Amino acid sequence: MNIHESEKIAGTLEDLGYSMCESTEDADIIVFNTCCIRDNAEKRALGNIGAIKHLKKAKPGLIIAVVGCMTQQDGAGLNLRAKYPYVDIVLGTNNLFELESCIKKIKQSGNKSVLIDPNEYPQVLENEKIYRTSGCNAWLNIMYGCNNFCTYCIVPYVRGRERSRKMANIIDEFKSLLDQGYKEITLLGQNVNSYGHDLSDGSNFATLLEKISQINGKYRVRFMTSHPKDLNREVIDIIAQSSNICNNIHLPIQSGSNKILKLMNRHYTREYYLDTVEAIKSKIPDCGITTDLMVGFPYEEEQDFEDTLDIVRRVKYSSAFTFIYSIRKGTKAAQMPQISPQVSKERITRLIAEQNKVTKELSKGYEGKSYEILCEDNAPKKDGYVCGRTDSGRMVTFKGDKSLIGSFVNVTIEKSQSASLFGKITEEE
Ligand code: SAH
Ligand code: SF4
Repeated sequence: MNIHESEKIAGTLEDLGYSMCESTEDADIIVFNTCCIRDNAEKRALGNIGAIKHLKKAKPGLIIAVVGCMTQQDGAGLNLRAKYPYVDIVLGTNNLFELESCIKKIKQSGNKSVLIDPNEYPQVLENEKIYRTSGCNAWLNIMYGCNNFCTYCIVPYVRGRERSRKMANIIDEFKSLLDQGYKEITLLGQNVNSYGHDLSDGSNFATLLEKISQINGKYRVRFMTSHPKDLNREVIDIIAQSSNICNNIHLPIQSGSNKILKLMNRHYTREYYLDTVEAIKSKIPDCGITTDLMVGFPYEEEQDFEDTLDIVRRVKYSSAFTFIYSIRKGTKAAQMPQISPQVSKERITRLIAEQNKVTKELSKGYEGKSYEILCEDNAPKKDGYVCGRTDSGRMVTFKGDKSLIGSFVNVTIEKSQSASLFGKITEEE
């Protein structure tokens, strides 16, 4: 989501005549697009802002802007300006569309801007300028904001309520991306399964997926994120029936304990979640299921944590993002009694070890089989090799040159090493 938002910021800058440069020393403008989902994201952003103070001294005309979720928090924008006076522009998520006018203002009159609107969410913007940076993959927002208020999460406070784009606009953007040669398009939303609830035309995620899958051409569709309470059987059926929609579902469970799920306000139980996973596996047997897991949430006891380990073993996720709970000011969980950081650290280590075991076992199952891969990039640090993903979302490295990037190839997996798969091209399409 943030990468794509940065692409939109870069699109605005490109439209103003700026172009990408290699280092901050060469830059005429630096925009920090911040995240505040966890404390370490904020710390990193502040560290990076602090680290360029000397550049402003050396080049007073340099424009520095800080935008995004971190600045949208209560009082954060003004604090930021007070602590880092060399920052010229501070914009919250609700004011990001004003970046262009703020830049013009500072160039014309030298006036600095701090614009954080706490209440007014902008209407869904269309025809945004986008400078895409993800090779043959493209991101496509289908909705903004979130209505769920999970008790640990800052997103609804800094991103506002759910706002869906009109289906016709999404389809138009999708077709235009295909015309431009993009091969894999990922639909984005905090909870894609509630797409359309705020529209009065009956649109929903299942119909959107179905319409998209009927567009002509050779392409792949992914989407994220699905909230387990809202991923319904209709959507599972459409994925199962369509060859364009990847057999890959990101289904964040957060915790395997019903007690913790209730405290998190997630609105599902482990049993309900496992039923959904069962439905996915029976309709889409080769589906790659990934998840987000959190340890150290308030009141988490050893048994609750073991319930999470049990879920990891039962579902067999192809991979998981694992987090230590991070206290976020203003959320409900911030008022709950916090557990010791040592306990959280010990649990995350055990959780990662368990998930690694599962990933390794699943990787073995890929050996000797052939998969269609969308070749996406040069392999990192491996000359003469390229990499790309299976339909189920697993990354594979294989011999080939960069002319293959952007094309579909069949690759036989020869060996696996933990999460990494290595193969060789069997036949080009
Ligand atoms: N909308 C998505 C996720 C958005 S945030 C969903 O509901 O699944 C991405 C992930 O960050 C979450 O799934 C959660 O695992 C993690 N996260 C969110 N807030 C957090 C916090 N306060 N501490 C630790 N991890 C958090
Ligand atoms: Fe945060 Fe929950 Fe909304 Fe995801 S669904 S963005 S975790 S509040």
